[in-house]
Amino acid sequence: MRNEIPYKIYLDENEMPKKWYNIRADMKNKPAPLLNPETLKPMTAKELEAVFCEELVQQELNDKDPYIDIPDEIQKFYKMYRPSPLVRAYCLEEKLQTPAKIYYKFEGNNTSGSHKLNSAIAQAYYAKKQGLKGVTTETGAGQWGTALSMACSYFDLDCKVYMVKVSYEQKPFRREVMRTYGASVTPSPSNSTQVGRKILKQHPNTSGSLGCAISEAVEVATTNEGYRYVLGSVLNQVLLHQSIIGLETKTAMDKFAIKPDVIIGCAGGGSNLGGLIAPFMGEKIKGNADYEFIAVEPASCPSFTRGKFAYDFCDTGMVCPLAKMYTLGSGFIPSSNHAGGLRYHGMSSTLSQLYNDGLMKAVAVEQTSVFEAAQKFARIEGILPAPESSHAIKAAIDEALKCKETGEEKTILFGLTGTGYFDMVAYQKFNDNEMSDYIPTDDDLKNGFDNIPKFPGNEF
Ligand SMILES: *Cc1c(COP(=O)(O)O)cnc(C)c1O
Repeated sequence: MRNEIPYKIYLDENEMPKKWYNIRADMKNKPAPLLNPETLKPMTAKELEAVFCEELVQQELNDKDPYIDIPDEIQKFYKMYRPSPLVRAYCLEEKLQTPAKIYYKFEGNNTSGSHKLNSAIAQAYYAKKQGLKGVTTETGAGQWGTALSMACSYFDLDCKVYMVKVSYEQKPFRREVMRTYGASVTPSPSNSTQVGRKILKQHPNTSGSLGCAISEAVEVATTNEGYRYVLGSVLNQVLLHQSIIGLETKTAMDKFAIKPDVIIGCAGGGSNLGGLIAPFMGEKIKGNADYEFIAVEPASCPSFTRGKFAYDFCDTGMVCPLAKMYTLGSGFIPSSNHAGGLRYHGMSSTLSQLYNDGLMKAVAVEQTSVFEAAQKFARIEGILPAPESSHAIKAAIDEALKCKETGEEKTILFGLTGTGYFDMVAYQKFNDNEMSDYIPTDDDLKNGFDNIPKFPGNEF
């Protein structure tokens, strides 16, 4: 019986999705629009086009069309590294002695090492189509910057990356990969922007944050002719591109009549989770099927589990629009958790709305337990996971162990977003027993909440 389902389920090329799925079209309560921080009115397409590429603005604002065509050029690029495998974790199931069936969708099979390439190639394509010279961005752990460098070199675009200082120092090889693909990489905060200089003045010893790097990248994009800013997570358009993950998964599972009971993903800004769950969530919203969705976040940066649902700035420098989301406050700088990609203070407004509507759950996990799960997974399933992805592994193992107690034969699906080859400083700390867990106190959080803008209608 067991072996009826292969270890890896691949799709044929002709089974790959030709359209992205836009979950917002099917949501009853739409995610709140981005607001202009000065007027507190919804951002217009024209305002957004000063910062973002035109066609991406259209996607950002589109909450009507459930399906959006994937341009041929992007489909071609996807075919170089997709479909990504859907793996049945037989070995892990056996080791855990669980009656649960565990599947993971593995997005680490490309040089950037994560799912970020799915959106990077789309964003670079639209920038090129618009005739731009280049794009600017921030990167935390480095995966997004790497993915964008690859995408930009494919389309011959200039790429300027602002990299959170702590990662720039901890991950010199990530930086070199980006430079190999032709990007320029600047540690953030830097002296090369106004906002960077201001932040450095206030916090001279800061190790940087994503919010801060975003402010710098936006400033450079808006002050240089022919440049726009692109973002690797959080935005609606990014969740749209990442729906390729969920669409492939759903097609693969349908082929073998597999129906997941629980779907788990790590949540930084929400793009991989939003992409993985999209088609399943669509069915749930329409009442066609039921699934349990679990977002997993670090206890050191608990946007969903301890944050406020309010309009807040997307960046530390407070230059970006306001987004309604679960947030810890744009001034919140988490302790140096090693899952750099999960250190963002906010969360996708789409996922925030779904969570607020009770359609999704969230859990927060501590990083030592995450690395225990990562080590176990590496030893049993062979893949060395990224620390971010390991949050999902930890929650999936916990679910499988619960099934062992209750005897339930649940089907668990989780997103394995990437590999951890550039995270060996973190693994080293773990191996040397030098890893600690810092959970922010209520007072720490209060400082962050105090920075959330106050205006009528933004009570939290
Ligand atoms: C960026 C990243 C994440 C978190 O980002 P989301 O937008 O929440 O998906 C998770 N895993 C990996 C490997 C990443 O690079």
